[in-house]
Amino acid sequence: IDPTVRPDPMPEDGFDRALRPQMLDDFVGQAEARANLRVFIQSARQRGEAMDHTLFHGPPGLGKTTLAQIMSRELGVNFRMTSGPVLAKAGDLAAILTNLEARDVLFIDEIHRLNPVVEEVLYPALEDFELDLVIGEGPAARTVRIELQPFTLVGATTRMGLLTTPLRDRFGIPTRLNFYTEDELFQIVTGNARKLGAPADEGGAREIARRARGTPRIAGRLLRRVVDFAVVEGDGRVTKELADSALTRLGVDHLGLDGADRRYLRLIAENYGGGPVGIETLSAALSESRDSLEDVIEPFMLQQGLIQRTPRGRMLASKAWAHLGLDAPRGPDD
Ligand code: ADP
Repeated sequence: IDPTVRPDPMPEDGFDRALRPQMLDDFVGQAEARANLRVFIQSARQRGEAMDHTLFHGPPGLGKTTLAQIMSRELGVNFRMTSGPVLAKAGDLAAILTNLEARDVLFIDEIHRLNPVVEEVLYPALEDFELDLVIGEGPAARTVRIELQPFTLVGATTRMGLLTTPLRDRFGIPTRLNFYTEDELFQIVTGNARKLGAPADEGGAREIARRARGTPRIAGRLLRRVVDFAVVEGDGRVTKELADSALTRLGVDHLGLDGADRRYLRLIAENYGGGPVGIETLSAALSESRDSLEDVIEPFMLQQGLIQRTPRGRMLASKAWAHLGLDAPRGPDD
């Protein structure tokens, strides 16, 4: 997968930090989630209690980490961040939990990848702010109970379906993030251009917004690349023409699809007559992991109505055939 046009975080994303909205008022889009969070944050502040545990789920790059940071800032507490795969042992989690101050926000990214042993330790911590740790081994082993400061766990996942039920049930505030509209991305691109000191006119910003696959992280990245072309090959200004030619050269088409997306669609069209075809078959044929197909490539194409998921596998919708410039095969009813 070409990393420029993909929503997964990259090392370059230090610049992500510079573009991150700091407070709820600066955060564009996700109106419903924002309105609800505002109430829960204010209530927690007025009561002087830790906010309820919150789960953000949705495709990568939509603002889960950003919202978690905003929550801690609005609550006036510390922000601690880790991720499911990093917490290999119960002790890793215990070390973090015992160091939290009252009402802190602990953010666990990719929480669906938590080791089951670590997850077990998390349950009493979430429910009663207590930790049961086993010290020693064999007959000498004993359990000690440690009291924790009340804290707020903010979990993030791209795959709600992979969360165990007991873990899911412990989040008082489950919040789904959706793809952004073109207008919302336009606002984000315009704001980012201002922060980067790059002159983007309305047409230029709109072109990037239209082709950012509903994802602020992609919008930020595409803006960066377009600015590079504007500086080197233009007069520095991001216009519609310049954005169009730069994005086309980056392999991003008018729907925002990139090479990997089109390979996926073409494979189903040309090798499987439009499907249905199973995810494992697609994964093997494209040499992409199943996770990256399901987390990164498919959600936007499903949302756009380019593909459908059926019990027997993925199928191309007529919009995809049209986009590829191919004729859909005739069905028996035609
Ligand atoms: P996630 O955790 O869902 O993968 P992040 O919170 O890391 O996504 O956001 C990715 C990038 O997109 C960050 O640079 C962030 O600043 C930007 N971003 C996300 N949501 C918004 C938003 N609503 N407004 C402006 N920028 C946003």
